[in-house]
Amino acid sequence: MMGRQMQTTVIQVDGSHPDEQLLLPAAVALARGDLVAFPTETVYGLGADALNNQAVARIFQVKGRPPDNPLIVHGADLATLEPLVRQIPPLARLLLEKLSPGPLTLVLRRAAHVPDLVTAGLDTVAVRIPDHPVALSLLRLAGVAVAAPSANRSGRPSPTQAWHVLQDFRERIPYLIDGGPCRYGLESTVVDMTGEQPVILRPGSVTVATIEQLTGLGTLTDAEAAARARTGLERQNAPRAPGMKYRHYAPRAAVFILDAEGVSAATPSCRGSGQPLAAQIAAWQSAGRRIGIFASEATLQQLCLPCQEAGKDSTGSRTDAAADCFSLAYGPCPEAVQASRMLFDALRILDSLGCDIIIAEGLPDDGIGSAYMNRLKKAACPADLQPSGDDYHESETE
Ligand code: AMP
Ligand code: MG
Repeated sequence: MMGRQMQTTVIQVDGSHPDEQLLLPAAVALARGDLVAFPTETVYGLGADALNNQAVARIFQVKGRPPDNPLIVHGADLATLEPLVRQIPPLARLLLEKLSPGPLTLVLRRAAHVPDLVTAGLDTVAVRIPDHPVALSLLRLAGVAVAAPSANRSGRPSPTQAWHVLQDFRERIPYLIDGGPCRYGLESTVVDMTGEQPVILRPGSVTVATIEQLTGLGTLTDAEAAARARTGLERQNAPRAPGMKYRHYAPRAAVFILDAEGVSAATPSCRGSGQPLAAQIAAWQSAGRRIGIFASEATLQQLCLPCQEAGKDSTGSRTDAAADCFSLAYGPCPEAVQASRMLFDALRILDSLGCDIIIAEGLPDDGIGSAYMNRLKKAACPADLQPSGDDYHESETE
């Protein structure tokens, strides 16, 4: 990774009741153009003053983020965010009133002074009020709107704990605020509110059903909105979420999805062999692969595989050279909220245990399960990793 080295100061705070005196140095640094990583209820963010071009440029540099992937601007309240947008349409305002602070990002028409770097040159800007005592205190103390993508190197799993941020950015950023694990563990729901119907650009913990209930409108997916724009049903091209095309959330290991059919992956080029799980795992193991399985306790019991428990309290440095199969349970039964909270943590833990292959439990693709499956499919191996194939190489971009 490029860029200058510096000492990273880790500020430890109580995630529920942070001491503002402890946050102050980071808030001052943020306001004067430095980068600060901080916890939110979704994932850890890497923040910069949204109106400071140089500070925002540094986010892209440190993350290795492609410049056409715009950033979400965070504010402690609506008063901070309102000047950044041309207008807040009535239904967007309703969503903000009902669901903010919370894991919801709205895409709105931007005001002229928002830097092009933040919006990747689009006519829109994404805004959000995070629901986390540390994030809110920091934003208030800094007194600026803060552009903050997830605090991971582009393409890597998003950080849901402070050690994840250090893994990617130790000595690359001046401040990291450690406020403990994130409550949701997946990034915010991104909804484009610039058209006649809400367009769900990224599923998250605020579900489609909630958006539809509150607005009284059906929602469109990004693909549906784009198709309508092509057939002229919509006056303007619906802005798409440019970031969604990049590879995301990828650990070093190749990720496969465990579903009723056995082991599979998001793309046909990367399917399991169609064998039952035990046979597939045996084939991988005999080819010298180390396997990690992320699933509920009930599913792990059903699978009845000879795996060693990886545990949940990793600092990211545990290894056990003897084991060639690790299991990591997120909760007692198949369930999307707990699975979502732990998914990115699990990808990093299993990586740190040296797993070559991670098999993660698939869940029903609805409600919060849609957000979980969206991330899991993006993390899942896109290349043709065969039992004896070449090592997977981390991509340079998201
Ligand atoms: P991240 O900050 O890494 O969680 O990613 C932010 C997500 O929001 C990306 O998928 C972006 O493409 C999307 N996004 C941010 N700003 C806009 C915008 N103005 N229009 C559409 N999507 C956006
Ligand atoms: Mg991200």
